Amino acid sequence: MDIRSLDQEFVANTYGRADVVFVSGRGAQVFDDRGRRYIDLGAGIAVNAFGLSDPVWAEAVTAQVSKLQHMSNLYYTEPCVKLAEMLCERTGMKKVFFGNSGAEANECAIKTARKWAYDRYGDYSHSTVITLKNSFHGRTITTLAATGQDAFHTKFGPFTPGFVHASAQDAGEVRVLAEKGGCCAVMLELVQGEGGVVPLTREYVDEVVRIAREHELLLIVDEVQTGNGRTGTLYAYEQFGFTPDIVSTAKGLGGGLPLGACLMGPRVEHTLGIGDHGSTFGGNPVCCAGALSILSRIDDRLLADVRRKGESIKASLTGARGVKSVTGLGLMVGILTDKPAREVAAAALKRGVVVLTAHEKVRLVPPLTITDEQLAEAIEILKEVIGE
Ligand SMILES: *Cc1c(COP(=O)(O)O)cnc(C)c1O
Repeated sequence: MDIRSLDQEFVANTYGRADVVFVSGRGAQVFDDRGRRYIDLGAGIAVNAFGLSDPVWAEAVTAQVSKLQHMSNLYYTEPCVKLAEMLCERTGMKKVFFGNSGAEANECAIKTARKWAYDRYGDYSHSTVITLKNSFHGRTITTLAATGQDAFHTKFGPFTPGFVHASAQDAGEVRVLAEKGGCCAVMLELVQGEGGVVPLTREYVDEVVRIAREHELLLIVDEVQTGNGRTGTLYAYEQFGFTPDIVSTAKGLGGGLPLGACLMGPRVEHTLGIGDHGSTFGGNPVCCAGALSILSRIDDRLLADVRRKGESIKASLTGARGVKSVTGLGLMVGILTDKPAREVAAAALKRGVVVLTAHEKVRLVPPLTITDEQLAEAIEILKEVIGE
C-alpha cells in the first residue's frame, strides 16, 4: 500500500506533510523513493549537523550500537561522561544533564531555575520565568507556557503557571517585569528560530543581561536551534558577549539522533541533587557517541566556514528579485519573500531544493558541511523560485 495513505490511516494527524517520501541521503543530498535528488537546506530542522549518513558519525554510532546501546542512568557509561566533559571544557559550564529533546532540555533549565530560587528563598515566591514574545521553547505543557506566542496558548489548558512574556525589542518590558518581583530567571533565544529567524540586537541583550544582574535573575539561553555550530560559534551566546547561567541545547547535538542537554554554570551547578530530575533514555550511549563525533569536529575551521557560507547566502539573496529581507546568523537564515513562504517551499521542493519555513519566512538551516557547490546550486534555484 502507498506510504501516503498508510500515513494518513495510522500516524497521528499532527503534521501537514509535503508530498515526498525520502529514503536515503549523503551529506546535503537526499533522494526520494523515485530516485530523485534534492539538495537539503533544512537538515531535518537543523538536526543533521553534518548532513545525512556522515560516514565518521555513522561509524561512531554503529560501533556503539553493536557494543552497548543502553543501560540506564543507574550505572556509569562512558559516552555520556565523555560528552559532558567535552561540553564543559568547550563552554566553561560546570555540569550537564542529558535528555532527549529540546523541550526536555528546557524543562530541565526551568526546573533548575525554580529549584535554585526555592533553595535561595525557602519558598515559591520567586518561581516566575520571564521569556520573550515571539519565542519558541517546545511542545510540552510547560514549554508551551514558556513560549511567548498566544497561538500556542489555546486548546490544551490549563498551562503551567509562572511564565510572563516581555518584548524582544524593548528591554524596558523586561525591566518592568523584573521590578515587579517574584522572578527567578530570564530565558532567551538569541536568534528566535521558529519565530522567523530573528536575531536579538546586541543592545537589547546587553540591557537584559544588565537587568538580570541587577535583579539577581538567572540567565537561561535556549540554544536548542542556535547551538552546536549553527550560528558560526559553538554556541550563539559567544557572539553576544556574556556567559549565561544555563544553556539548553538539542537539535544538532546528536547529529541526527535524539539528544538534548542542559548545561549548568557555576551559580547552579549544585542546584539539582540526587532524585531531583531524571530521564530513562537521557544520555543514551548511542546518541552520545554520535554527539561526540559531531562536537569533536566542530572546530575553528568549520565554524569559520559556517560564518563564510552564511555571509555568502545573505550576499546572494539580499536585493534579489522577490526578496524583501534576509536575516539570521551563520547558517541559520530567514528570507522574507514577496510570495508566501509556503509557496516558495513547495515550489523549491518541486525543483529539487528542500527548504523550511518559519512564520512568514523561508528558513534555511543546511548541514554545516554543505559544499560550496551544493550551496551555490541550491541558492540559484531558490532565487529563481522566489523571483518567478
Ligand atoms: C526546536 C526547538 C525547541 C523544541 O525542541 P524539541 O526537540 O522539538 O522538543 C525548543 N526551543 C527551540 C529554540 C527550538 O528551536
